[in-house]
Amino acid sequence: MVTARIHQCENWIFDWSGTLVDDLAMVLDATNHVLRHYGKGEMGRDDFRMRFRLPYAGFYEEMLPGVPLPELEDHFRVGFADSEAAGVTSPLLPYAVEFLKCLHARNKRMFILSSMDALAFDRHARQLGVDHFFEASYAGVLDKRDQIHRMIASHQLDIERTVFLGDMCHDVETARHGGVSSIALLTGYQDAAQLSRSNPDLVADDLSEILRLLESGRVHETETTARQ
Ligand SMILES: [Mg+2]
Repeated sequence: MVTARIHQCENWIFDWSGTLVDDLAMVLDATNHVLRHYGKGEMGRDDFRMRFRLPYAGFYEEMLPGVPLPELEDHFRVGFADSEAAGVTSPLLPYAVEFLKCLHARNKRMFILSSMDALAFDRHARQLGVDHFFEASYAGVLDKRDQIHRMIASHQLDIERTVFLGDMCHDVETARHGGVSSIALLTGYQDAAQLSRSNPDLVADDLSEILRLLESGRVHETETTARQ
């Protein structure tokens, strides 16, 4: 079970939206910009959380059948920029900085695997001052299941010591696809009932729960070292 060996995980792959940052307001604004452009009604926050899913191609095919994805993405970027210009922000989630610092202090390797537009992610991660934590970032990924195998191979990750943290079923399914452990966080786009359907190894209310597990692991590691 992932809780018993979490402190032994050397490679930590993070989703971005809803896992490290609270960008739901901006993503909802951008999505509604897209829907308005095609004459559709706007979605409320709860409706969006109920219906949005990854890979987002499936969500948009349901909402706007037949519209090419690159066209939708162009409108999404405009809506995202408009939201930011209107003063909507996407702050780091509680405990995100503490969590990344904790892993950094333990020389863990950290990566990003996100569907967020790559340019938006790069800019945002820099603005928030967390970009330097990540050895490599894979953003703008349409289907994370395809990408995780390439990540594992190119960075030579030991899947027994790798965990993927995310806030959506697709993240859990991606972890399983790659043969790595999964942690589902309830800080993002999907709730506990939705996430439980993907059967994650561990569900946590927020990153502080995982931080506590790491801290308890450090005690265990110290004890083990002292006995040797
Ligand atoms: Mg997410």
